[in-house]
Amino acid sequence: EKGIDLSITQDYKLAKDNELRFEVESNARVKLDLLEGSAEVFGTELVRSRSYIFESGAKIAVFTWFGCSVKLSGKVEASYVSKDTPMVIYLNTHAAVEQLRKSAEQDDIRGPRVLVVGAQDVGKTTVCRLLLNYAVRLGRKTTLIDIDVGQGGVSIPGSVGALTVERPADPVDGFDLKVPLVYHFGHTAPNGNIKLYETLISRLADVFNAKCDYNKQVKHSGCIINTCGWVKGQGYQCILHTAQSFEADVVLVLDSERLYNDLKRDLPDFVNVILQPKSPGVVERPREARRDNRENKIKEYFYGPRKIYFPHAFNIKFSEVEIYKIGAPSLPDSCLPLGMEPENTQTKLVQVTPGRDMTHHILSLSMAESLDENLIETNVAGFVVVTNVDPDNQVFSVLSPAPRPLPRKYFLIMDIRFIDINK
Ligand code: ATP
Ligand code: MN
Repeated sequence: EKGIDLSITQDYKLAKDNELRFEVESNARVKLDLLEGSAEVFGTELVRSRSYIFESGAKIAVFTWFGCSVKLSGKVEASYVSKDTPMVIYLNTHAAVEQLRKSAEQDDIRGPRVLVVGAQDVGKTTVCRLLLNYAVRLGRKTTLIDIDVGQGGVSIPGSVGALTVERPADPVDGFDLKVPLVYHFGHTAPNGNIKLYETLISRLADVFNAKCDYNKQVKHSGCIINTCGWVKGQGYQCILHTAQSFEADVVLVLDSERLYNDLKRDLPDFVNVILQPKSPGVVERPREARRDNRENKIKEYFYGPRKIYFPHAFNIKFSEVEIYKIGAPSLPDSCLPLGMEPENTQTKLVQVTPGRDMTHHILSLSMAESLDENLIETNVAGFVVVTNVDPDNQVFSVLSPAPRPLPRKYFLIMDIRFIDINK
């Protein structure tokens, strides 16, 4: 309970279908206790035997279906109780999706694949979490497909991945991220490399289909696909590509009538496109908040939540590894070899000679054992961040969640940098 100002406490009595919303001030922590009744945080039920401690920057809603009282201790920013929530609508969506899982089970066909789309800050990630939590509470093993490279839902920003959810998210720490399947992208926005982004989405769909072929429970439980808020122009094309790759059955559009109409027009008739409101509780995040979130995600990857781990620091000889960047600088069309399309350069591997400019960059360690495997479409074992490069001695230093030795030798370099200020 370190860092919680216990002299500030407030009790709240919530009537049924109400929600308490609060934010934690920067450099503060807030403790939440359930005193009476039942309540949930984004679909995870709270228990009375535990105090929930939220870190600075957290934006939380405590919702109750039947009424409850809770206590908040510590410096809370903007806390209020609201009756105005779309939770009943979301619960009905869950019920409809669950019906599809039941039929899938009966006929042994693929369960529902739900694509969640909408502009920035409409609660997409939260709705995904809610639907996954409600599914797992019924014993389903639904897979979260996260292609929001800006926030990194199943790993760090700059990656995409899949995670089969086998227990509800922790109200504080979110889903258990021990065994996600992760792919390197390298940028914080899809337009960093559209061709690669679409390649990875197709790859994730193939891998998920393969998993469905050998695991019936995973097959019937379906998936929930979380996307980023880029819905215009090429971003819209990416949404169509995702729906096609995964053969989405349901597309849940949050808040945007325009996007809803466009998708209804452009997707085949068997796709169930539905428009739903966003929660008035969703908090808009300015650019800086997004950047801070990203940085926190990366910090958490190395140090664990609340810095409960300590990463390993070691040197790697240039000769021990090979580092590649995905995407060659694009050439003017006139310089391209005959028959080569310009966009092919976007998924070309280019070997990088280690140099000082690599400092602070994140490297993904590919699971590939040889270059015969397609590095771009091979999942990664994890990430390291380069803390120093010493060209004279031909070594570079890294921070890594795992100790030496490296299980593989091929690295992919990200555009994304992380400056470790914990040292
Ligand atoms: P992005 O476009 O960045 O991906 P998003 O559409 O996924 O955003 P969320 O991340 O789900 O939006 O929500 C934005 C913020 O609002 C999050 O910090 C989340 O915890 C908070 N939030 C969501 N729903 C509520 C609510 N009902 N009450 C209070 N806070 C909420
Ligand atoms: Mn999101």
